[in-house]
Amino acid sequence: MTEDVLQEIVLAIPLPALVVDQTERIIAANTDATSLLGQKIVGRHFATILRQPQVLDAIEQALTSKSAKKTRHLSNDGAQDTAYEVECRYLNGVGAASGGAVMVTFQDTTHLEHASQMRRDFVANVSHELRTPLTALMGFIETLRGPAREDPAARDRFLKIMADEANRMNRLVGDLLSLNRVESEERVRPKQQLELTGLLQSTINSLRPLAEDAGVVLSLDVTNGPLSITGDGDQLRQVLTNLIENGIKYGASGGSVTVRVLPADRDPAMRGPAVRIQVIDKGPGIDAVHLPRLTERFYRADSHRSRQLGGTGLGLAIVKHIVNRHRGRLRVESELGKGSVFTVILPR
Ligand code: ADP
Repeated sequence: MTEDVLQEIVLAIPLPALVVDQTERIIAANTDATSLLGQKIVGRHFATILRQPQVLDAIEQALTSKSAKKTRHLSNDGAQDTAYEVECRYLNGVGAASGGAVMVTFQDTTHLEHASQMRRDFVANVSHELRTPLTALMGFIETLRGPAREDPAARDRFLKIMADEANRMNRLVGDLLSLNRVESEERVRPKQQLELTGLLQSTINSLRPLAEDAGVVLSLDVTNGPLSITGDGDQLRQVLTNLIENGIKYGASGGSVTVRVLPADRDPAMRGPAVRIQVIDKGPGIDAVHLPRLTERFYRADSHRSRQLGGTGLGLAIVKHIVNRHRGRLRVESELGKGSVFTVILPR
């Protein structure tokens, strides 16, 4: 095969690719490879271009053993690390005096490594979140079997704490299952026709006892009549419940939570007909540093307060996925000492 034909074949490979022959020089490379490794690499000794020892070893071994080798290459453009899986495949009858050559391709695996890191972090977080109440339960079981055995007052107190801890675990498992379901449906567009004002009203009614217990006045501020949208009724109810519950839990000191509905024929965020649902509280607000990360799983602006109030740290992650599924947007504005406004923008 002539070097021109080889170069044409390498150019057609949809990954950074180059060929090294028995003279240990690069005899062909495509533009993805030159973007990654630098211009004018053809004709150079491969060790002057690829400086990472594991990559050099893999190419040398592939050349001498006439077989395939695999390794990793890490690059850094100053801003971030990129990980590549490097495949070295032996090519018979190619290169100087047709003594054989090795095709080297680089596949960017950063996103896979990122996903697997996220999975590991998630498992570590879930285990930690479950272990805390579990440790408390195990401790109280021991106490009830031993020192508190004959003490009815202590027994009742401990059983109450155990029930609270078991409820915490139950809420966590419930939220994990919700998150899982919502994530798996995220690409399926909801099709139900819904009347939004009625849905808001009934959600608010179901949360009124919680608001009353917390001393919060919960109100719905709508100027429009019935409002029809396409969506998933159960999921939109969950969005509203999570946001209103947060308003009541964290914003109780402000004394009020208001749900405001603002329909528009042309919403700038949606570039078309949409409705904005705002959940407004007058509580302590959230420091601006936390706002970008608030919808991450298990992220809490105030961990102590969240745990004290029985939070799982998953409520806003669930909200974000449901809003995404509806091709909507979630916006959070907050000012310390003044309260927070969570806005869900849904296309109509
Ligand atoms: P949690 O189960 O902890 O409430 P969420 O995902 O619902 O988890 O919320 C994440 C964090 O955002 C909470 O832990 C809390 O610190 C903060 N937060 C959410 N809503 C409000 C609010 N209305 N006012 C102040 N902080 C809030």
